[in-house]
Amino acid sequence: MNNVGTPSNPLRVAIIGAGPTGFYAAEHLLKEKNLSVEIDMFDRLPTPFGLVRGGVAPDHQKIKTVTKAFDRIARKPNVRFYGYVELSRHVSIADLRQFYHQVILTTGAQTDRRLNIPGEDLRGSHPATEFVAWYNGHPDFRDCQFDLSGERAAVVGIGNVAMDVARILARSPQELLKTDIADHALEALRQSSIKEIYILGRRGPAQAKFTPPEAKELGELELADVFTLPEEVELDPLSKKALEQNPDRATLQNLEILQNYAKNKPSGKPRKITIRFLVSPVELIGDDTGKVVKMKLVKNELYATEAGTLRPRPTGQYEELPVDLVFRSVGYRGVPIPGVPFHDRWGVILNDKGRVIDPDTHEPLTGLYTAGWIKRGPSGVIGTNKPDAAETVTCMLEDLAAGKILQPEHPGVDQAEAFIKSRQPLYFSYEDWLKLDQIEVERGQAAGRPRIKFTRIEDMLAALGR
Ligand code: NAP
Repeated sequence: MNNVGTPSNPLRVAIIGAGPTGFYAAEHLLKEKNLSVEIDMFDRLPTPFGLVRGGVAPDHQKIKTVTKAFDRIARKPNVRFYGYVELSRHVSIADLRQFYHQVILTTGAQTDRRLNIPGEDLRGSHPATEFVAWYNGHPDFRDCQFDLSGERAAVVGIGNVAMDVARILARSPQELLKTDIADHALEALRQSSIKEIYILGRRGPAQAKFTPPEAKELGELELADVFTLPEEVELDPLSKKALEQNPDRATLQNLEILQNYAKNKPSGKPRKITIRFLVSPVELIGDDTGKVVKMKLVKNELYATEAGTLRPRPTGQYEELPVDLVFRSVGYRGVPIPGVPFHDRWGVILNDKGRVIDPDTHEPLTGLYTAGWIKRGPSGVIGTNKPDAAETVTCMLEDLAAGKILQPEHPGVDQAEAFIKSRQPLYFSYEDWLKLDQIEVERGQAAGRPRIKFTRIEDMLAALGR
């Protein structure tokens, strides 16, 4: 048992979720000197890279180049990819305990948070997460329908996802043609009638969660002018004081950009984006067919909590905003995994620095770890997951040194492969993904695009002759 991690008895690790965090966790394990490790990475999709493929906006191709580093990891001889193998469907945690000394859950945050207001589920009101997955060609969402025949869309929330959604709605077909946006989305957006896009923040400009490059990018669109309201981008006394005490650079940059947008004059571009602050939707109102036609907004003011955080509260002053389409962009949320302790309110796996813990005893559950959004919640950029994964791997190495690991009955690489094959004969290896990748890139080259994605699993299987 204590020679685990040596060449004759390598440490066997399963990573569940082949997104950025899964790859960062693998990278940290591979970097460890004097450790022999054999890593199997699983993903429920046939394709790797998680949100880099299915979340990062298609017009942010530079961010996607991070996959080059992930590719180098996946090609290591002691790393294997098992795509199209789903936890709780093809394999269970109990199964994994038979084959691995340690299991890391890096499943991300797969659903959305809700607004909890009347009318939220009217036709035409959608979670932004679905729209993002749709335009990125995620197989689970490729058949979603978004009615883009109206003229006004509202995006609720002022994080980077809201900016992505607003930008994709506002981009011209020519701009989108240079991206790897899914073909079905390209076609739908080409026909779009959307002219007015509102981005709605419940707090003020100093509390915006989007980052300055994203704020600036909105002002550089081919077809859209961007505006803010002068009275909404003036700092309130509480925000002013907070900023004086902590002159955060990104906030100051955001403020400058947003205050400049208040000075913009219409330039004749056909689309218009307006970023609003200190307003909260309190109700979505539908017509008699159940389709959203307007939203009732309340004006907010900020107050300081005991901890010093500035929170919004309603003033009792209302307005109505006609809208044909609503995207709720108020954050992602983790989905519980059967048999794994979960903190329901926070939407994360119950853990201490990445060690999954028992809800009653708060003691670590041997061999079970987590990292990324499902560990800490949906915050930060892709790179934020690197130190997060490192923290988890440090715990794993400490536990290995202390002999606190699982004792799998079948620790052989071939044994796991045979088992996986028996449960999911159609699994995709990394070589399979490389073939798909090549076909996507070649199809893209023919059209002058980075790639044309496969968006149906049947088509991926057919492309490999299965
Ligand atoms: P986020 O950054 O947490 O933003 C969520 C937004 O929703 C906040 O403005 C929040 O306001 C608002 N909100 C929450 N509940 C609300 C409610 N009930 N009513 C109205 N507004 C509400 O989340 P995200 O935009 O989904 O992004 C997730 C993570 O991915 C972030 O870390 C983001 O930076 C990252 N990301 C990065 C990029 C990039 O680097 N280009 C692109 C996309 C996403 P409060 O602040 O008042 O709570």
